[in-house]
Amino acid sequence: MRLVAEAVAERLDLVRTRMARAGGEDVTVVAVTKGFGPEALRVAGQLGLRDVGENYVQEAMAKIDALGPAAGDLRLHLIGQLQRNKVRAVAGRVALYQSVDRASLVDELASRDPGAAVLVQLNLSGEDQKGGCPPDTAPALVDRARAAGLEVRGLMGVGPAGAPEAARPGFRLLVALADDLGLPVRSIGMTADLEVAVEEGSTMVRIGRALFGPRS
Ligand SMILES: *Cc1c(COP(=O)(O)O)cnc(C)c1O
Repeated sequence: MRLVAEAVAERLDLVRTRMARAGGEDVTVVAVTKGFGPEALRVAGQLGLRDVGENYVQEAMAKIDALGPAAGDLRLHLIGQLQRNKVRAVAGRVALYQSVDRASLVDELASRDPGAAVLVQLNLSGEDQKGGCPPDTAPALVDRARAAGLEVRGLMGVGPAGAPEAARPGFRLLVALADDLGLPVRSIGMTADLEVAVEEGSTMVRIGRALFGPRS
């Protein structure tokens, strides 16, 4: 346990160094704890990383419940594709829904978790299975979410697999769109492409492996 915390602390230093070299100040680090046990969330909290990202509703809820009061300071971000029928199970327990990508999900959130804070996810890779809406449909989705009373804070995107540089055009597009829409949060950048994301104007990176090591 102690060992884990120390290793993660060292890795966090490396992540912060990488971000600083890329020119990132005031970039929020969301610690992505999927695939790791509740202790990963506890360690994140101990290191001052209050924002934790999970992909799956059941996994997230099980860990939060296992942590008990220790989870109290954490802010849960849902970053994976979200099925409508899972919203009821998490309503009121999510600090930021990062993967809002279709009208039906907007409507479900608005009715089950009124006023929830959300990011609209753009599909930057053209791969359907990664989720996200086509970028040209994002303005209408943002409008719909706002009209439904959700608090739209920004946009989220996942870069394509492969060389980090390949993510740059999509990140640039996302930031330009966020500017147009007056949205402050730009959630781009993961372990592999955080420098490119920060260079392009990320305000929030979602980091798993660079903090916790490889996922099994
Ligand atoms: C898993 C995941 C991450 C973190 O990825 P790493 O490569 O471990 O940093 C970030 N965002 C989303 C949407 C993910 O699914």
